[in-house]
Amino acid sequence: MKSLRIWCAALVAGLSAAGAQIDTVQTVAPGVYFHQGDIRRGHSNNGWIVFEDFVFVIEANFPSGAKVVMPKIRETSDKPIRFTFNTHHHGDHAYGNQLWADAGATIVASNGVLEEMKTAETGFFGGAPGRWEGAAKGRPDVAQSKLKPPTLLFPRELFFDDGKRRVELRWLGVAHTKGDAFVWLPQEKILFTGDACVNGPHNFLGDGDVTEWIKTLEAAKQLRPEKVIPGHGPLGGPELLADQQHYFIELQRRIRALVDGGRSPAEVKAALADVATDLKSISNIARYVPASLVAQGEKVYREMGGELFPK
Ligand SMILES: [Zn+2]
Repeated sequence: MKSLRIWCAALVAGLSAAGAQIDTVQTVAPGVYFHQGDIRRGHSNNGWIVFEDFVFVIEANFPSGAKVVMPKIRETSDKPIRFTFNTHHHGDHAYGNQLWADAGATIVASNGVLEEMKTAETGFFGGAPGRWEGAAKGRPDVAQSKLKPPTLLFPRELFFDDGKRRVELRWLGVAHTKGDAFVWLPQEKILFTGDACVNGPHNFLGDGDVTEWIKTLEAAKQLRPEKVIPGHGPLGGPELLADQQHYFIELQRRIRALVDGGRSPAEVKAALADVATDLKSISNIARYVPASLVAQGEKVYREMGGELFPK
């Protein structure tokens, strides 16, 4: 535990030396790589794992993000990229799928990812324009590509094992979406979380369920990872899972107090600036507090039966 703390402290110190980790390849373990995406371009983090015969990639990213990371993968291995995994259906994790498929990869995801796509990507599935069409208006990289849903699906878990290396894809419950799955390396004790866990003010609650999410983070903690690689922000240790879970618990607790106090939607909304200040005073969760708490606060409030905030 002590060595872990020292490792984390060193990591944090290294990161504060100018965010130099963004868009650089980090070797997490032999044959296991992490690439922190540039959030200013909307990019998610990526990971990749080199098996005996192929490379397994974590996250398709946006098309522009895929183009950043593909040549870097080639610098680490010349084996074919055979699988690209979507941790969930959001554009910054899945809209690059077509590029990976064109490069020879099969797109893998939990069945919940496809179910979420059927709801969000109505344009692809024969209905009115959906999220992809909305994203394409603002992103040339999306407009120049096309949506490619995953084709290799699993209900709860799917394992890759070549006798030397083992990677377990695990759906542990509803979290950031209904479809989030984790990538667990039991030998190396490395956990890639997608956006079920982030490191920084990057949480989007709109497609999630915070009460279920807290339980899913608990299930992830039970794997006892030593390194946790989030969907956005720098990598860390198991404290990432604990801190994000703690943030949600404290956020819920404060909204609950406002509900129990009989506050109106407008009053709850008005109280959120003070809630944010209060949450920022808790050292291990301060980094999770976004610039505006309105969207997160409203979602948590609505999960407790509250109504939409007035505009
Ligand atoms: Zn997401």
